[in-house]
This record gives sequence, C-alpha cells and structure tokens, in this order.
Amino acid sequence: MSANLQTPIDYLKGVGPNRADLLRSELSIHTYQDLINLFPNRYIDRTRFYKINELQRNTAEVQIIGTITGFREVAQKRGKRLVANFKDDTGMMELVWFRGQKWIRESLQIGKTYVIFGKTNWFSGKYSMPHPEIELQSEHDKNLRSAMQPIYPSTEKLSNKGITNKVVSKIMQQLFLETKGRFAETLPETLKDDLKLISKTDALLNIHFPKTSELLARAQFRLKFEELFYIQLQLILKNLIHKSKIKGFPFTEVGTYFNTFFKDHLPFDLTNAQKRVIKEIRSDLGSNAQMNRLLQGDVGSGKTIVAFMSMLIGLDNGFQCCLMAPTEILSVQHYNGLIELCKLLKINISILTGSTKTSERKIIHKNLENGQLQILIGTHALLEDKVKFKNLGIAIIDEQHRFGVAQRSKLWKKNTSPPHILVMTATPIPRTLAMSIYGDLDISIIDELPAGRKPIKTVHRYDNNRLKVFKFIRDEISKGRQVYIVYPLIQESEKMDYKDLMDGYESISREFPMPDYQISIVHGKMKPADKDYEMQRFVKGETNIMVATTVIEVGVNVPNASVMIIESAERFGLSQLHQLRGRVGRGAEQSYCILMTSHKLSNDSKTRLETMVRSSDGFEIAEVDLKLRGPGDIMGTQQSGVLNLRIADIVKDKDILQQARYYAKQVLKIDPSLALPENNVILETYRQMSKYRNIWNYIS
Ligand code: ADP
Ligand code: MG
Repeated sequence: MSANLQTPIDYLKGVGPNRADLLRSELSIHTYQDLINLFPNRYIDRTRFYKINELQRNTAEVQIIGTITGFREVAQKRGKRLVANFKDDTGMMELVWFRGQKWIRESLQIGKTYVIFGKTNWFSGKYSMPHPEIELQSEHDKNLRSAMQPIYPSTEKLSNKGITNKVVSKIMQQLFLETKGRFAETLPETLKDDLKLISKTDALLNIHFPKTSELLARAQFRLKFEELFYIQLQLILKNLIHKSKIKGFPFTEVGTYFNTFFKDHLPFDLTNAQKRVIKEIRSDLGSNAQMNRLLQGDVGSGKTIVAFMSMLIGLDNGFQCCLMAPTEILSVQHYNGLIELCKLLKINISILTGSTKTSERKIIHKNLENGQLQILIGTHALLEDKVKFKNLGIAIIDEQHRFGVAQRSKLWKKNTSPPHILVMTATPIPRTLAMSIYGDLDISIIDELPAGRKPIKTVHRYDNNRLKVFKFIRDEISKGRQVYIVYPLIQESEKMDYKDLMDGYESISREFPMPDYQISIVHGKMKPADKDYEMQRFVKGETNIMVATTVIEVGVNVPNASVMIIESAERFGLSQLHQLRGRVGRGAEQSYCILMTSHKLSNDSKTRLETMVRSSDGFEIAEVDLKLRGPGDIMGTQQSGVLNLRIADIVKDKDILQQARYYAKQVLKIDPSLALPENNVILETYRQMSKYRNIWNYIS
C-alpha cells in the first residue's frame, strides 16, 4: 500500500517542520494531496542552450554555457553588488548578485565551465543576468533534463527562505517515490473513453514531469476538465435539488391573454432571441418546478416585452403578477409602457412606489387581496409586509444587481408556494462566467437587438477638443435633441469628484446660458425628491442638458436624448461605460457617445476606450472586461470562488468549461443521484472533495 494522500506534508522526506510551516502558510499545502495538486504555472525548455550573441532584449529565461573570467564588486546606493564577467565563444555578458555575495564568491571558480539559467536584462549596452541559477556543467550533465521543466507557483517568502523551484521539484519527486506514482482514478471509464482522456496517474505524472509536449497537453486537458467537471456537477446538483424540492405553480394554460396579445396587439415582430427566450420561460412555467431564471440582455434588447408576455401566461392561469424595478422613475416608465397594452387586453394594472398616496395605497392593497388587481408594478415598496397578494404567481425583477438575494427571498414569501421568479439584467456577464457562478439560476440570453436600430457612434476625444464638443452639443440641441454629460463618482475621492462635477456644471452653465438653454443636474448628495424632480424635467423635455454623476446609469429611457458625453472616461470601468452609453440610441435619430479624457492614459484605459469605440456588443465588451480585470472584479464572483481554480482558467478555458458542463449535465440527466455502478467513482470523488473542503472553496 502506498502512502495515504491525506498524510500531513510534514511526513514527506525532505520537508520537515520548518518547510512544512512555510508550505502551509504560503501555498496552503497541508497534505500530500495538496502538494500533488500544486500544478506548475508554466514550463521552460531546459534542453535548449543559447549563445550570448543570440540573446534578444525580449527573450524570457535562457540557458547558456560559458566560463567566468573574473569578479568585481560595484558600490551602489545601498551596499554593493557582485558582478562576474561570463563569456562563451560568441560574446561576453555579466552575472549580477545583490545578496549572498560572500557565499557566491567562495563557491564559484574562475575558468570553470558553468551552465547558467535565468532572465536577462539589457543594460548600458550589455546583457546581464541577475541571480542566475548556476551549476557546473559536469554536475548539470548528470541530471536528466526535460524540454519542459515545470515552474511552480511561489512567493517571495518561499524563495527568500530557500524553497526554490528546484526544491519544490525535489519534494515533488519524493512524493512520487513514496506514493509509487499511482493515484486513484477520479473519472468514470465511459467519460474517459468518450473524451480520450488519459488516466489520473498519467495526468499527474505528466503535469509534474512531462515526457513529451503532447503528453503535457493531454495531462493539462484532463486535469482542467476534471476540475471544471466537478464544479459544474456541484452547481447542477444544487439546481436539481432546488427543482425537485421546491414545487412551483404549473402554468399549464397558454390562454386568451397571451394568444390575443400575440395575434392582435404585438406592436412589432419579436426578434428570434426574444422568441427563443419566451419559449424557455414558457417551458419553465409549464413544468412542476419553480422557475428561477436570469434573463440577460443588452440595453435596448427588448426585455420588457418578454416580461410582459411571461406575465400574460401567469394571468392565463389565474394568477397575479408583479414587476419590480429599482427606482421610482424606472417603475413609472414600465407602468407607462404597459398601460396601453393592458387597456387593450382589459387587464387591471397599478403602480405602487414610495410616493403613492395613502388613499391610493389602500385601494391597491384591497384589490390585491381580493384578486381584482392583476399586475402590480413598483419599487421595493412591493416588498413591504402590508402588500399582500391573493395569488402571486410570477414576480419579475428588473435590473437585478440593484436588488440583493434577501429581497428576492422576500418575494418568495408573498404566496404559500414561492412564485416563479424572472430576474432581468442589462449587465451582461460572459456566458462562461455566468455558467460557473449562477448555479441556482437558469439563464436566458437575448443576444440580438431589434432590427433597424441605428448603432450609436462612439468617439474618443481629448480634453483640449472641448470647444468642438461644445459646438457639437449646440448643434444637436438646435435640432431639438437632449444631451447627457456624466461625471465620475468614485467613493475614495468623493469630495474631489463632487468638486469636478460642480466645476463642470458651472462651466457648462456659462457655455449654455439661460434662457436659451435649460440644464438639469442630478447627483448623489441631493434628496431623492429633488433628484426625481430634476430627472422628470429632463424626461419631459423641459431641460436640454442633464449634468449628472452615474446615478443615471440604470434603465432611464429618454428617447429624445441623442448625445452621451462621459467626462474623465478613463476612470470608468467598461461595463459602466457601456451602461451609460445605453442611455442614448433609444429613438429614431442617430445617437452619439463621446468619451472625454486627458492625454495621460494607462494601457488598460486605452484598451477600454478602444473597445468602446470599436464595439457595441455588451457581451463582447464583457469578455474584454473579464480579460482586463480578471473574474475577481466582476459582479457576483467574489463569493462564488471561480477564482480558486487550481489549473483551469475561466477566461482561457471556456471551451473546456462548456464540455465539462455538458458532460456533468449528461451524467446527472441519466443518473441524478449518482447511483449507477459506473458513476460510483464520481460519487466517491465528489464525497472526498466535499469532505476535504476542496470543492467547498468553489461554492458560496
Ligand atoms: P431593455 O431590454 O433595455 O429593457 P426595452 O424592453 O426597454 O429594452 O426595449 C427597448 C425598446 O425597443 C422599446 O422601445 C421597445 O418597445 C422596443 N422593442 C423591443 N422589442 C422590439 C422588437 N422586437 N422590435 C422592435 N422594437 C422593439
Ligand atoms: Mg429595461
């Protein structure tokens, strides 16, 4: 019997208490199992030797054979550095040490042939290599070298304490010795056959000690697949348990409301994406389970009509429906948008917000409870305990990220069984990421805009072009259009931002004086009532310009506004820029988005601006955002743990993720309780993972 993988790492020969402590604190390696799962970040080719005259300024690590011809010490600001001249038959370079100079000087000999390895720098006409790995050639030749030498994750503390990559490689070898390099299989044979996966034993061997680059690639694939497979399995299981435990109201009828609307009153042809999503929702509503669906669709993609038609299915089955939006303005907008349609269909609809008068409120409460009121639109005023439905069947939440999970669950309690829930968001999360973080929600996507939309023209302008931009604004206003001018508001520098906003407001007031121009201003320091008042003036077309912080980001619909100017655009994140831009382009006219910045731009800022100018596709923009920021900053990922992946990369390995999800679904479709003998290995692995906390890292 070989060593148990749950053995504490201290027991491995060559580790000992000090190193064990460091491995635990720096790399969370507690057991043999943890060590075996420490996968290399990358590999370097140690069979390739460079000549000094082949070096280029951007070569990564190189390996060179040569001799040391002399040492000297060079004084510098703090202390001194040790420099060796190193030559081969093509040229000369320098080796440099800033630490451990005494020991280096004593252990290296002039005239002997060494193999050096490391990163080179180009400095004042010469190449140099700081702190090279260095070994006598005679020693070097004794070791077996691989074309792919693993480079393990490390930390500064580890390398300072002498746990170099070489040391990690050594203890990894020791681990393979003690375990005889044999590891229990963790995927079923059928799956391995289907995907032509190599065994767990081969995969682990080749990830740490690759024999060929082909075997390395297969090892990486197998381990990435396995990692993603078990995460997906966990998420899908959670979803299945939800569905089997939580019964919904089966909406078996698609009746008069839906059909009449569809045949006689649909104001436009639905896009294919809208049709597909309505089908997905219909099938959820018709099943026995409670719907818990996230609808993602870019701004202007037409989510409202989908929401409305879903509610019609609810009404056809004798249930009430509600639609909740994060602000009063948005609720009013929804209400105004739906009231005509409801009249045509003789549906009772009302709106309830913080500013609904007590007398109206009483009527709404009464009609909700006796069932006369069929659709209720509103803000989180809907969540109050006093708001009781006779029979709430479906609740729709618009602009999801302004509401928390707690609020979702409050809606649940509005009926004896939880109503079906549809959450709508205009902040696209890349599909791959959404798949890995929203385990408890099913996802629908509208990835198509209604035909005939004029794409918004987006440009980037520097601050010194401001006069031209002002002229452009004047021209647009003279055509009867309205303009947004948005300033950043970022918590840390709130005071400065407020000042910028006010300075901006003043200069715009000078540039666009009353009575020819009317300007609204909205920012976070205003009372909600004042904010609403100013917003309403703009919505009604009484003002030409809206100067604002990002409070206008969500959902406001002013079709006559055709210009969005974003000041200090370099300070906004991509998804925010995209959201802001979505405020224009809602009418028939050509719309514009102007991104204003100074000349000082970081590379990331440049990429963000270029992306905005190039693309209007929210999902494409979200992908770039994900690449720039990593999943860590994307909403909802913090708790989900997609960051703790050991080997797979949520951005780069999305194809593997898709496969993993597909197979996890397949397995659970046939065998939801993992009871079949062939799935025993999955069940066992899954249990082990849960037991040894590995998988729980991934799950909130
Ligand atoms: P969002 O997804 O941002 O909430 P809305 O539902 O507000 O988008 O729709 C934006 C605009 O597009 C609305 O004026 C709506 O009437 C219109 N619209 C929606 N679907 C279509 C369609 N299939 N064809 C034409 N116009 C549509
Ligand atoms: Mg909307």
